Amino acid sequence: MSREKIKILSVASEVVPFAKTGGLADVVGALSKVLPSLKCEVKTILPKYRMVDEVKFSLTELDLPLPEIKFGNKPIKFRIKKCSQPENGAEYLFVENQEYYDREELYRDIKTGLDYEDNDERFIFFCRAVLETIKALDWKPDVIHCNDWQSALIPAYIKILYEKDLFFNKIATLFTIHNIAYQGNFSAETFNKLGLKGELFYPMSPFEYWGRVNFLKIGISQADLLNTVSERYAVEIQSGPEYGFGMEGILRDRGQDLFGVLNGIDYEEWSPEKDKLIPYNYSKGNLQVKGKNKEFLLKLSGLKSDGNIPLIGMISRLADQKGFDLFQEIAEKLLSSKLKIIILGTGEEKYHRALTLLEKKYPHKFRLYLKYDNKLAHLIEAGADMFLMPSKYEPCGLNQLYSLKYGTVPVVRETGGLADTIENYNPETEKGTGFVFKYYSGEELFLALKKALELFENKAEWKNLVLQGMDKDFSWQSSARKYIHLYNKAIAKK
Ligand code: ADP
Repeated sequence: MSREKIKILSVASEVVPFAKTGGLADVVGALSKVLPSLKCEVKTILPKYRMVDEVKFSLTELDLPLPEIKFGNKPIKFRIKKCSQPENGAEYLFVENQEYYDREELYRDIKTGLDYEDNDERFIFFCRAVLETIKALDWKPDVIHCNDWQSALIPAYIKILYEKDLFFNKIATLFTIHNIAYQGNFSAETFNKLGLKGELFYPMSPFEYWGRVNFLKIGISQADLLNTVSERYAVEIQSGPEYGFGMEGILRDRGQDLFGVLNGIDYEEWSPEKDKLIPYNYSKGNLQVKGKNKEFLLKLSGLKSDGNIPLIGMISRLADQKGFDLFQEIAEKLLSSKLKIIILGTGEEKYHRALTLLEKKYPHKFRLYLKYDNKLAHLIEAGADMFLMPSKYEPCGLNQLYSLKYGTVPVVRETGGLADTIENYNPETEKGTGFVFKYYSGEELFLALKKALELFENKAEWKNLVLQGMDKDFSWQSSARKYIHLYNKAIAKK
């Protein structure tokens, strides 16, 4: 059944341009902009963190009959603020409660570096407040699109807490898993805060996970439909604990309802022709200008400029997921070759230390930026010759897609979205868009890089490879249509 105009409420804990810590924010932000142009009425809702700039985004408070939400006998109030972007029809709502969301960081206490102790309450409250908001607005979506564990309770609340409320009983739910390693896994006491009957918490029930409460498991078991952000990752997370992080069994049970939809990218932000953050714009027709960005980047990084020496870039969270153990394993061997490496990232302390030592040892070949810097990320995409992503697992990955557009050849591991988007270069046919290695080993990574470095010496073949990558189109239009297909499928299940 396909409808004239589908009404969608998109729920997430972070959304570009308001608040971001990772890829989730990019995806929800981009979808909220594209869907209105595809006959959808969309509202997107997130918490009003301190990071959300009220003045810049002209937030206004809505006058709504909002109830208090009870934790035990503790009633908690909230307010709803709104921001409209009339140019693309997108509308954003913010759940405001200062005690919960007016904090320095989104999820972590900046003083301890650990997750906030009340993250369970903060996001239980968020899910409850979202549902009370649409009721108070009297705006009934056809589908509520939930994202990751922070909004995973909504399908359960619709089915159980609001079961008898006619306002909710036709609303379908789609739950998108952006990274299965982040689950919202709390102690058993959290169950008492959910506001659900105690009899639902028993071993192996949807609300119990090894004696604990796991929000992701609740979302997976209760949503009408599920998806993740690439087809390969949808298969991998069902395959076993290595990729499923304990959710593989329940995902297999729901295999019929689980789909893969690749993330798109925003070419307004990320294309070498239009990029406002790089010093020299370029396109397929004047690739030599890419070299000027390389020169600029090398100079900025205190590395000697030489266009004939290949430059490898990495922009990433410094986490085990991203393959930094493999990189560390081969780094010295790699740095003894004719090349330069620039890494931009922040994350685990052990990688900060190891990479800092490496930079000290190879100051003329390796530059490390331990920070989050969007402008520099754009410059690295534009200036590097190759981009390295040796991930252990990768739900979708965005940087390999940016790299293709910037003519920066990706060297990636064959996993998740990397496997779905990068075609291994075949020297016989001269077809492909990057270099792909299969097994998670330093040796394989080194071999893939060696092939890339060898081809780099052959300027004509290298250019041919670069151009094939630049021709690829991973814009949001086609991914958004796939989401609309899933929305219709979820509606049909109701
Ligand atoms: P993940 O969400 O797993 O971190 P993705 O590749 O899906 O990985 O998205 C990461 C996003 O964050 C990309 O847009 C990437 O460019 C950006 N990013 C990661 N680290 C940094 C950094 N240190 N500085 C600037 N941008 C970064």
